[in-house]
Amino acid sequence: MAAEIPLSVTLEELAEAAQRPADSVEQLKVLVSRLHARIKAQDGESRQEVMSLMATPQHQGVEHLVRVLELCRDPLLVAAVCTLLHDFLSPSNKAELRSEVLQECLALNAAEVIFRTLKALAAEGLGAIDVCVHPAYQVLAKLASKDPKLAVRARLVGGVRLTHQLLQAHSKNSVPLLPLLMLSKHLAKNCTNQMVLGKEGCVATLATLLSSVPKTHWAKIKFIMEVLALLTKTKSNVIRLVRESGLQRALAILDSWEKVERRHQVKLLRGVLGTLSHVCDSKHGCKAVVSLNGIEVVQRFIQMCPADKRFDNNLAYATSVFLKCISKGELPVASVKGAFTFQVPNRDASPPPSDLQNDSLGLDVDSSDDEGDYDLEAEDEDSELQKDFTSFTITSEYSPKRIRMEDLLKLRPLFPELNDFQVQTETRFTLSNISSSEGGVRECVSEATAERYLVASDATRSLISFVKVAYPDMVAAQGPAHLEELYEKDRKVCRSKAIATVERVLHPEVYLERVVYDLDYLLETEHSHQQLITPPTSLLRPLSNLDERRVGKKDMAVNHLNFESRFESGNLRRVIQASKTEYDLILNADVNSSHHYQWFYFEVSNMEASTPYVFNIINNEKPNSEFNYGMKPVMFSVQEAMEGRGTWGRTGYDICYHKNHFSRAPKAHDPTRSKRSSANACYYTATFTVVFPHAYDICYMAYHYPYTYSRLKAYLGRQHGKELPSHVFYSNQVLCRTLNGNPVPLLTITSKDDKKDKEVIFFTGRVHPGESNASWVMEGVLDRLMQDSAISRQLLDKYIFKIVPMLNPEGVIHGNHRCGLTDEDLNRRWMEPHPILHPTIYHAKALLEYLQSVAKVKVRVFCDFHGHSCQKNVFMYGCSRVQSWWPGDKQTPDDPDYKLLPRLAQKYMRTFSLLDCHFLIERARETTARVAVWRQFNIPMSYTIEASTCGCDQGPYKNHHLSTKHLLESGEELCEALSYLACSAEVLATQLQADTGRSACRRQCVPRVSVERTPADASQDVIIWSSDLDEEELDSDADFDLDLYGTV
Ligand SMILES: [Zn+2]
Repeated sequence: MAAEIPLSVTLEELAEAAQRPADSVEQLKVLVSRLHARIKAQDGESRQEVMSLMATPQHQGVEHLVRVLELCRDPLLVAAVCTLLHDFLSPSNKAELRSEVLQECLALNAAEVIFRTLKALAAEGLGAIDVCVHPAYQVLAKLASKDPKLAVRARLVGGVRLTHQLLQAHSKNSVPLLPLLMLSKHLAKNCTNQMVLGKEGCVATLATLLSSVPKTHWAKIKFIMEVLALLTKTKSNVIRLVRESGLQRALAILDSWEKVERRHQVKLLRGVLGTLSHVCDSKHGCKAVVSLNGIEVVQRFIQMCPADKRFDNNLAYATSVFLKCISKGELPVASVKGAFTFQVPNRDASPPPSDLQNDSLGLDVDSSDDEGDYDLEAEDEDSELQKDFTSFTITSEYSPKRIRMEDLLKLRPLFPELNDFQVQTETRFTLSNISSSEGGVRECVSEATAERYLVASDATRSLISFVKVAYPDMVAAQGPAHLEELYEKDRKVCRSKAIATVERVLHPEVYLERVVYDLDYLLETEHSHQQLITPPTSLLRPLSNLDERRVGKKDMAVNHLNFESRFESGNLRRVIQASKTEYDLILNADVNSSHHYQWFYFEVSNMEASTPYVFNIINNEKPNSEFNYGMKPVMFSVQEAMEGRGTWGRTGYDICYHKNHFSRAPKAHDPTRSKRSSANACYYTATFTVVFPHAYDICYMAYHYPYTYSRLKAYLGRQHGKELPSHVFYSNQVLCRTLNGNPVPLLTITSKDDKKDKEVIFFTGRVHPGESNASWVMEGVLDRLMQDSAISRQLLDKYIFKIVPMLNPEGVIHGNHRCGLTDEDLNRRWMEPHPILHPTIYHAKALLEYLQSVAKVKVRVFCDFHGHSCQKNVFMYGCSRVQSWWPGDKQTPDDPDYKLLPRLAQKYMRTFSLLDCHFLIERARETTARVAVWRQFNIPMSYTIEASTCGCDQGPYKNHHLSTKHLLESGEELCEALSYLACSAEVLATQLQADTGRSACRRQCVPRVSVERTPADASQDVIIWSSDLDEEELDSDADFDLDLYGTV
C-alpha cells in the first residue's frame, strides 16, 4: 500500500513532520517505514529513486532525518531512522549516491547527534535504548570510518564513555556487539580516548569478552584484538591487560592461529602481534610475556608463518616482539663511546653565555632527527618538546643577545667586496704550493689533481693519526655519469633476514665471531696490522696512498677480508667475521658521543673473485632507512680506476634494514626521548651483499659519495689557481678556526664592480658531516657562479654571494655523522652559538649581523645545505608566519616571497620536488639555522635545502639514484632558479604559471612518499621491510562492509 503513495508526497510529508518531530512521532514512524519499504524493495530502480531524491538538496531528505534524530526522544523512531540511514549506506547502493548521503551525514554532524540522543534516552537507564543500539552503532561505525575527527568529538559529547557502558551491557548479546566493537576501534585511535577507555575499565571488558565470545566469532575477536592493540599504546593499559589475564588469551590465539577463519587471519594476527609489541615496550610487559612462555609461542609463529606476502607484516611484528622479549646482547665493543675523544675547552673561559644558552631551554637537545628529517621517533619527540619546554616563550618581542659592536667591526676584513675588493693577506685561505711528487700516484691519474689533494690533506689536522689518504678522494672520484636504478627490494630476502636474526639469537654457537678489524686496538698500539698500507718509505710526507702497489696481491697471512678506515671521513670501529663470507661491522660513534651511527666509509681488501660477501652494519640507530626504499651503498674499486674506470658507483643486492638483538644505550642526557622509545631500544642492521669486481682489489665502500674537508680545500685551491672569467671577483678567506685548529673557508663571489645596491645571498653547508651530498650540491653552485656564463654575470651583477661551504670540518674529517667535537648538533646552536665551542656557527652568524647592523646590506636569501637520509628528491624547508607554532608570528602576514625560491626551484631543478617542501616553524626548530636566521635577521627567504642520499621518486630521475652528477647539476640549476629572483613581478608570474600546472598534475599522478610510509598505528619500532606496511592498508576497513552487511 505504501508503495502506491508517490515518493514525492512522502518526502513532502517528511519535511513537514520533521519541523515538529516531538508532536509527529507516530506519523514519522509511518513515513520512515514507507521509505524503508521502498529501499528494501527488490526493485533496484525504486531503491535508486529513493536514494537520489533523498540526496538532492531540494528535498533535504537526509537533513530531515537527522533533525528527527536530534529532536525526537522515541527509541523506536530513533531505531527506525538509523536503520533507514544504515540501509542508505549499504554497499548494494550506487557508490556515488551512497557517498552523497554519507557526505551529507558528515556535514550535519549526524554522529554527534546520534550520541547526544542516545545519551538523553539512556538517562532513564541503558535498557531504554536497547532497541536502537544496534542500528545506531551501525551508522556510527560507518560514519567513523570516514571521519578521523570523530574520535575527539565523540569524547566531547560523552560518546566514549557511553560506548564502553554499552559494550559492558551487551557483552552477552551478540547482535550489537560487532558495531560496538567497530566503533570502539575508531575511538581508541585517539590517545586521550585510550586513557579514558582505560580508566573506564575497557581493557577488563575486552579481556572478559575474549573469553566469553564464542570461539568461532572471528570477526568480533579480530576487533577486540585490534582495539586492544590500540589501547596498549598507553602504558597503564598494558598493566591492566596483564592484570586482567588478557595476555594469556592473546597468546593462546597466536598459538593456534591456524584455526582462525582464513579471511580474518591476517588482521587478527596483526591485532594480537600489535598488542604484544606494545606490551613488550615496557619491562613489566616483557616480563609477563616471558613468564607466559610467550617467546616460544612467538618463535613457533615465526617458524610457521606462511610465505604469503600478506603475512609479511605479521612476520615483521613477530620478529620485533621476539627481539623485544629476549634479553639483549651488548654491542661487542669496549665502550659505546667513540674510539677517541677530544678535550673540550672550558666554556667559561669565554664571556658567559646568556640565558638563551642555558641548557634548561632544552631546545637543542633534540639532535636525533635531521632538520626536518622526520624519523619515526621525531614526531613523538616534537610533541614532547611542545609539552616539556614551556620555559621557552617568546613574550612580546624576540631579542636575542647581540654581538658587541666592537667585535662586529673586527669582521670588516671579511667583506672585501665592500672595501674596494682589497683582500688582506693575513685573512687569505692558502694552499701552499708544494710541487714535489710522491710515489704511489700513477701517471694515468691526473697528477696535479692528486698532488693538490695530498697537499691539502697534509695541512689537515686530525685527532688520530691517519694512515693514508683514501684513493678515491685523492683522484677526486665522482659517481657515474649514467643513471643507476633504485634497488628493488626482494621481500623474500627481507623475510629470510628477519628469520635469520631470530635464528642467530637462538643458535649463536654456529657463528665464527672472529675480530678482524679493531680500531681501539690499532689506536692503542699505534701500529698497523697491514704493513702494506704504511710501509716506512712512505713517511717522506705525512700521508700518501700506495693502493696501486697493493692491488692484485693476496695477503697470505690471513684468510679473511682486510679492513681499514683510518683516513679522512673514514668510519669503522670494529669488524667481526661471522662466517666465511659474512661480516658484522660496527661503526664508530661521533667524537665524544655514544651515538649518531649512520655514516660509514672504509676500505676493504683481500677479497676472492666471484664471491658474494655479506656486510651487516649492526649498530645503526634510526628506526628506518632509505636502505629499505631502494638505496644502495656506494663502492669504488682501485683496480677499475687503474683500468680507466675510476668512478664511485652504487653496489650491492639483498639490501635490507631491520632491527637486531643488540640493546642500545638510551640517550642519558636527552630528556626529550620518550620512555617508550628508550626502554627497550635496539640497534638496527643495514645489510647488503657485494660481489667485488676483481680478486685482491682494494675497494672503498661508503654510505654516500664521500666529500672530505681536504677535497673542499683542493677544490677551492684549484678555483684559485685557474683563470676565472673576467667578471668574477672571488676571494677565499679564513672565517675562523675550528676547535682543533683547522681553518674554515669563507668565500665571497660577486662581480668586480662597485654597485651600491647589491643584495647578499648567504649560503652555508655541511653542518651535518654525514650529509656529504650537501657538499656536492654546494660545489655545483660554486661551479656555476664562477663560470663564464650569462647566469653567472646576471647573478654576480646583482648579488654578493657569501658562502661558508663547510660549517663542520671537524665532523667531516673524523667521519662523524651528526656532530662536531663536542657531541652537539651544531644546527641546534644558531640561536646563541658559543664563540669558543661553536666557532663556525658563531662567526657565520656574526657575518649576518655585520651585514645588517654595520654594512646595512640586505640579505635576500639565506640557505643552509643539507642531505636527507629518509626522503627522496631535493626539496626545501622555509618559514611561514601563518604556519608558526608561536601565535605572535601569525599577527603579521607572510611576506609574499617566502615560497618564491622553492617555486622557482621546482621549475628549474630537475631533482626538485615542491610537494616535499614545507614551511612550518616548529618550536623544536627554533635553534636551527633556517628559523634562527629568519627570526633574528628578518629574512623572509630563509631556507634549508635537502638533497636525498638515495634518489628521486618523481621527475626525470624517478626511480633512480642521485649520482654526484645530479647533485652538482642541482647546485647549478639552483643558480638558474636564483637568477629569476631579480625579475619583475610580471615575468615571475608567467614563469611560475606553468609551474602551478606541473605541480597540480603531479599532485594527482604521484602519490606522496610520506603518506605511503606512515607506519602501522605509528608504532615506533616495527621492522618495516615490507613496502606494504602502511596505515592505509592496516587501518582500512576493506572488510568493514563485509562485517556489517554480510557478504555483498
Ligand atoms: Zn642535516
